[in-house]
Amino acid sequence: MPFVAKIKTVSKEWIETLRPGLAGKITLWYVALLILTVFLLSSLTFWGNRQALLKEKQQVLENTVLQILATLDDRSEGQAMNIHDPDVLSGNIPKEVTVQLSSPSDSLIQRAGQLKSQLPIQKQSALELKVLNGEDYYYVAKPIQSGGKTVGYLQAVIGLGEVNLAQKVLFKQLLWIGGSALLLAAVGGLVLSRQVLSPLAHLNREISNLTAHDLNRRLPVSGNDDELDRLAQSFNQMMERLETSFQKQQQFVANASHELRTPLMVIRGHADILKRWGSEDPLLVRDSAESVGVEVEMMTKLVENLLTLAREDLRLNLATINLEELIIDSTAGLPYLQKLRVEYDLASDVNIQGDALYLRQLLRVIMENAGKYVPEGGKIQIKLRSEGTGVTIVIEDNGPGIPPESLDAIFDRFYRVDAARSRNVPGHGLGLSIARKIVEAHHGNIRAENVVPQGVRFWIVFGV
Ligand code: ADP
Repeated sequence: MPFVAKIKTVSKEWIETLRPGLAGKITLWYVALLILTVFLLSSLTFWGNRQALLKEKQQVLENTVLQILATLDDRSEGQAMNIHDPDVLSGNIPKEVTVQLSSPSDSLIQRAGQLKSQLPIQKQSALELKVLNGEDYYYVAKPIQSGGKTVGYLQAVIGLGEVNLAQKVLFKQLLWIGGSALLLAAVGGLVLSRQVLSPLAHLNREISNLTAHDLNRRLPVSGNDDELDRLAQSFNQMMERLETSFQKQQQFVANASHELRTPLMVIRGHADILKRWGSEDPLLVRDSAESVGVEVEMMTKLVENLLTLAREDLRLNLATINLEELIIDSTAGLPYLQKLRVEYDLASDVNIQGDALYLRQLLRVIMENAGKYVPEGGKIQIKLRSEGTGVTIVIEDNGPGIPPESLDAIFDRFYRVDAARSRNVPGHGLGLSIARKIVEAHHGNIRAENVVPQGVRFWIVFGV
């Protein structure tokens, strides 16, 4: 790719990131949390530092005042100095402290220090913050005792300019460090989250390129076994299921059309015959009408079966059903069972929650098959048992049985064992798939097995 085109693509991708996508949102949250942390930490540092500096100034002021008072107070050891003595304030007074001595009549006696203006004369004042000439100061005032009398007052201040200056410098430093950290975190966060999420963007592109025609496409799995890998795996499994169900659906439609085409062609053939010779031969009209009637009946049944299978879920009308009654009711006296012997071995008082119509249909499918595939004189046994938490219905015949490799497949749509096809037994291979659908809708399962010496046994098990 040419350099300019590459730059364009990269910048386009970056602009995409600026839209509040996942990467943008993660970065925003990340930066917001960092701003909060930086703000809290800086405020704490700033406040702690200010307190420490102010404390130091307080101590310097208090020590100076105590020292001067000690030299003037006769209660302290040694000789007290006179308040008018200029040496009183020539001692070790720190340069940022200004001290002033005043008489009991509020007139200034002497002062020392950097502050040019006179201090407000107060007789007593605990340490307080004052603004003098636009600057902050700590101010304190104390009476001076000598010989049990108050001989004057001491006022002292210490400038806080240095503290404010140090704080300004610290504020600037914190601003710089915090700002750079935030910038670094924002850019780093965006790059990192983009990098982490780029496989997701790739996944997205792959998914949006998929169409119904390439359901066989799969997403690459890197093998890292991370969340994205698992997402790709789940997606691939979903595609697998989709593809299978799509293929099944296509197969179903193809089979259904094929099965419908045969009766339609027969009906069309009869229509042609009737058109040509119908007016001349009344017998032919009757035969053709009868044949059309049979075909239409078979087609109706086929369409009903197809509709049942096409339905996503069977809507069950649940009721408490006594299975003994239902089995006898739906299997006794069926015309196609006349040629067979039906034996019942049914436990009484076995109830399940089910849909009577669908359960009847289920039993009829199996009985109808026995009627179709078991030769005349054969036998069908129906057993009903209730064991523990399950109910089992076993239907067994002594017909030809089913080839072992087809025992599972007979429950698939349109599946017919070859022998059934070749012997021209009527049917479309839908009965047992409907039976399975009904059993599954009742949260049960159905399977078939061959019995010795011959015959097939269907197991239907419902959990209660
Ligand atoms: P259909 O009977 O319409 O062909 P089913 O789905 O009911 O379709 O049955 C599928 C196939 O299973 C049948 O074609 C038949 O080959 C086999 N089958 C079902 N029941 C029996 C049975 N009792 N004995 C032998 N084969 C059977």
